[in-house]
Amino acid sequence: MAEILVLGAGMVGVSTGLALQARGHDVTIIERGVPGRETSYGNAGLIQTEAVEPYAMPLAPFALMQIALGRGFDVKWTPSGLLPQLGAILSYARHSLPAAHRRASATWGRLIRQSTDRHGPLIAAAGADNIIRRNGYIELHRTPARMDKARKTAERFLTEFGVEARLMTGAELRAMEPSVKIEVEGATHWSDSWNCADPGGLVAAYAALFQKRGGRIVNGDAGDLHRKGAAWVADEATGEHAVIALGPWSPIVTERFGLRVPMVFKRGYHRHYHMELPPHHPIADFGNSVVLSPMRRGLRIATAAELTPHPRLSPPQLKHGEKAARELFDIGAPVEAEPWTGRRPCMPDMLPLVGRVPDQPNLWAHFGHGHQGFTLGPVTAEILADELDGGAGWSELQPSRIKRG
Ligand SMILES: Cc1cc2nc3c(=O)[nH]c(=O)nc-3n(C[C@H](O)[C@H](O)[C@H](O)COP(=O)(O)OP(=O)(O)OC[C@H]3O[C@@H](n4cnc5c(N)ncnc54)[C@H](O)[C@@H]3O)c2cc1C
Repeated sequence: MAEILVLGAGMVGVSTGLALQARGHDVTIIERGVPGRETSYGNAGLIQTEAVEPYAMPLAPFALMQIALGRGFDVKWTPSGLLPQLGAILSYARHSLPAAHRRASATWGRLIRQSTDRHGPLIAAAGADNIIRRNGYIELHRTPARMDKARKTAERFLTEFGVEARLMTGAELRAMEPSVKIEVEGATHWSDSWNCADPGGLVAAYAALFQKRGGRIVNGDAGDLHRKGAAWVADEATGEHAVIALGPWSPIVTERFGLRVPMVFKRGYHRHYHMELPPHHPIADFGNSVVLSPMRRGLRIATAAELTPHPRLSPPQLKHGEKAARELFDIGAPVEAEPWTGRRPCMPDMLPLVGRVPDQPNLWAHFGHGHQGFTLGPVTAEILADELDGGAGWSELQPSRIKRG
């Protein structure tokens, strides 16, 4: 049994705490705010078994031109958002080339396929079933071209990864989701995935479970992590090991210990809207770069990627997403005065860092889950906990790959 500090109480940090605790360790989590109130709060709530390929950067000349000219809504940028992370973005582009992306997907697919098996026991033990739906999610296709592409993707995902999907006509979609007002070409129902009506609430429930099982959550700043003799110390808490699970804030801390992490920060926004008869499933309308999730607070419209250092008060992607949502559904006024915003912690090679920080005894990295950290937290937590206990870890996820370049 070891005393272990986990820095950060998002989905990744809290899952790490639970996995280490299950192996008999004495774990203290240090969180400067409230568990599950940052990135792990603001996502679309999907616990995905179908997302077997990480998001590649669009590299087709037309797509790149659209992004460069600020057209379309998948990626928006400003010079002050783009330039500081240009090196990481170019590396992301290199890893988006077909051969590299296939390699990343082989690892990513193995992680993602475990997600509901890992969340299931935690949801049950945390008594969080009331905020979980196990009915999959729907990707809607407005045009025949998008439907054709979806058909091919579904076939490929079934053959290569065993992912179940049901392709539906527009009429079948409207029978399943009567709140959809307009005719669309069709939809993919990714039936194995789960979704959550309160993502921050799920992290809070996992955090409460961690405490019930004897774990401590200290409210403090982990940014001063330092060594004192053989121990790691952060905000006066000490441990033999320390795990950095600070999501998008992780590189600030690792840099002090010689690991410069080139992260791509993809900002997203969400806002809830009043809706009397919400859809039964989250509905992705990727043609308009949004996911529309029925949440406890209303219909959550979540946006794609923006490369900006500071949030915008009136984000164009959210404005466009709201317009698309109003075409599809009868939605009312926004619930909040202002949108929520946060940054997806994305690694250029699209794989999270899970393992030892090089040259630092008993210092561990566990972050960089990009678009799917809410899904993957409990999966990679098991991998990290196993390695910390003497297992081999996953070589593709080791932080040492950053140093090798
Ligand atoms: C719009 C949007 C939609 C998304 N949709 C999905 C989805 O549907 N499914 C999915 O799987 N993923 C989704 N994601 C991605 C997912 O939300 C993230 O990958 C995940 O939440 C990252 O979790 P984390 O624990 O690493 O980071 P965080 O949740 O950000 O946790 C980090 C924690 O560290 C704390 N912290 C930071 N600095 C310090 C410090 N100095 N001292 C102490 N504590 C500190 C923070 O307060 C925070 O609580 C989405 C993301 C966005 C933005």
